Amino acid sequence: MSYTKQLPAKGLSQSQVLDKIREYETLNDVEWEKGCVSGAVYWGDESLTNLLVKVYGDFAWSNPLHPDIFPGVRKMEAEVVRMACTLFNGGPNSCGTVTSGGTESILMACKSYRDMAYERGIKYPEILAPVSVHAAFDKAAHYFGMKLVHIPLDKKTMKVDVKAMKRAINKNTAMLVCSAPQFPHGIIDPVEEVAKLAVRYKIPMHVDACLGGFLIVFMTKAGFPLAPFDFRLKGVTSISADTHKYGYAPKGSSVILYSDKKYRHYQYFVAPDWQGGIYASPSIAGSRPGGIIAACWATMMHMGENGYVEATKKIVSTARKIRNEIRKINGVFVFGNPEVSVVAIVPVQHPHLLHSPAHTAGVADQFINVVREQVAIIMKNPKEKTTGMGAIYGMAQSIPDRSMVTEISRGFLDCLYSTEVPKTSNSHMNGNGKAH
Ligand SMILES: *Cc1c(COP(=O)(O)O)cnc(C)c1O
Repeated sequence: MSYTKQLPAKGLSQSQVLDKIREYETLNDVEWEKGCVSGAVYWGDESLTNLLVKVYGDFAWSNPLHPDIFPGVRKMEAEVVRMACTLFNGGPNSCGTVTSGGTESILMACKSYRDMAYERGIKYPEILAPVSVHAAFDKAAHYFGMKLVHIPLDKKTMKVDVKAMKRAINKNTAMLVCSAPQFPHGIIDPVEEVAKLAVRYKIPMHVDACLGGFLIVFMTKAGFPLAPFDFRLKGVTSISADTHKYGYAPKGSSVILYSDKKYRHYQYFVAPDWQGGIYASPSIAGSRPGGIIAACWATMMHMGENGYVEATKKIVSTARKIRNEIRKINGVFVFGNPEVSVVAIVPVQHPHLLHSPAHTAGVADQFINVVREQVAIIMKNPKEKTTGMGAIYGMAQSIPDRSMVTEISRGFLDCLYSTEVPKTSNSHMNGNGKAH
């Protein structure tokens, strides 16, 4: 296929655009609709899609930057935040904002606590977070001039080592972090114990519930009780939860919640003397997509508590089944005791092969069987060379010079913006005419 590199001199008709779009759709070769992709897509139900397309269309031109012009979107955003605060047991002063995704929610929490730390005279604010915490915290530290101090995990439970967290607290500590659950192993950190440290040392604490936030709040009602992880704990001052993951809203939305309005104020940006007028915005973006907020609101209203509890029952019972069945397979190891939707496994002889499926119902048995078969093959010949993407990943993991991995990754990102057909493409084409 060739690439478009300049605007069509004369605009295409609508039917021509739609024909073109069909070409782009055929580029997919991963059929996530069948349920065999872990993570990435959290819901694909056609009737929900139809509702969202309609709602997005109705609000496609709206922008919450102008609440006077779009009061409906303002109300929806306020309600998404309030519903989320209620789910996480926030008190009357709890509050938050809608963001573009988990990363932005995390960036906002770190920015708020950095500014609080500056106000207390801390020059070099530190984030204390488990090594298993999401890379968005590295990004926040990088963007905001903070230092991320990684706290080790307990090797058996894969939960953050609370004693090590306590030892790392010093006069520069701006915030403590736990994940509920973390991405790599699907484990919930000891939020209660870390929250006690937060209270004792008067340090704000963030709970990253981006991944599983919209599962854990329903787990008690779904019959899978958990230890407290939210604003019920005095030390927890903020929580991030992604509506675009298990909230089942389309991509581009998340919430950052605070136990008290005083924290949210540090998140805001105000330029009182801008020539264009007093400029005040709650989060990183200026203009924001009202259509996405409306679609998120519509998803939450349509799912309702009953819909979320039902989905949680199915997902968590599937994850428990995968966890329990895989533990029985000889030669495989399940990390810790995953309680939510992600189960991380490793064939004991092959430390590079890590897998963390967030599977929904329907293909669990197939998945367990594939693991059983593949592990049997590996166990027969554990020295066998890994091939394909697994080999590339394994190789990258084992390169001691991480700057080289960074360079290769930059090259990968460059490729995403490539509009060049590779010169040698003919020799690398498979039957579908796709370059590999
Ligand atoms: C996905 C995820 C994030 C980041 O969210 P994005 O929406 O991808 O920006 C943060 N923390 C955890 C635990 C996650 O799984």
